[in-house]
Amino acid sequence: MLAELISPWFRAQARDLPWRRPETTPWGVLVSEFMLQQTPVARVEPVWLDWMARWPVPSALAAAPRADVLRAWGKLGYPRRAIRLHDAAAAIAAQHGDTVPSDVEALEALPGVGSYTARAVAAFGFGLRAAVVDTNVRRVVARAVHGQGDAGPARTRADLADVDALLPRADAEAAVVSAGLMELGAVVCTARSPRCADCPVAAACAWVAAGRPAYDGPRRPVQGFAGTDRQVRGKLMDVLRGAHGPVERSALDAVWSDAGQRDRCLHSLLVDGLAEQTDDGRFALPA
Ligand code: SF4
Repeated sequence: MLAELISPWFRAQARDLPWRRPETTPWGVLVSEFMLQQTPVARVEPVWLDWMARWPVPSALAAAPRADVLRAWGKLGYPRRAIRLHDAAAAIAAQHGDTVPSDVEALEALPGVGSYTARAVAAFGFGLRAAVVDTNVRRVVARAVHGQGDAGPARTRADLADVDALLPRADAEAAVVSAGLMELGAVVCTARSPRCADCPVAAACAWVAAGRPAYDGPRRPVQGFAGTDRQVRGKLMDVLRGAHGPVERSALDAVWSDAGQRDRCLHSLLVDGLAEQTDDGRFALPA
């Protein structure tokens, strides 16, 4: 029932995002999923377009120096994703003939590709039937199917089973419904102000039928940003990305006053392979 309502709505209303266009390859979809994991669509779009023009196939990215990859990642945040994507490109080039595999298990074996990304690539890159479960989809299911105001903490197996039960049997139609569920959660059934009056599934929504009761279950922890190690790492990476070569320690010291936190973050960037120390003691993006 939900699928029958979501499918025509998505076909008519879906946002025109570049990675949804028919000419986008599975590689383009994979790149978009890496970028979208923790970054909003509006920030991803220009970076994705540049990225695909520069590295249209996995082997092209695999051949690029790591410093170029990190610079191109720019300010998308969580730059470990760029390293993992670079590694995944190398694995696809070497082990899969430069062609992204369509099989969920083969996708999950790639660096940085978890269950969500593997299923998203199978569905959106290849048009296959795969339950794709992100935060937005979990919220839609919690409301429309279970009549609860929010989804609460993830329950991976149960969440997958819930979404799988909503998908039609045929691959192509299931892939449309998977995309539609994500779109619904992103633009209509939002966390704070669901627009039920504009929602294609309102007539079948259990939460609406129950009178939109307030959510009183467990909540997911909300992560702050200001003052966190993530913010400090971002500032240090900005310095390294903006420099043409290695920088002195003093250039990094200038961006954050808490020396203990700064040292810890710099150390973590070195350990993660996002930065390197040169023989003369300066710091740079990895070669
Ligand atoms: S009717 Fe409202 S609560 Fe139900 S799925 Fe649509 S937007 Fe979400």
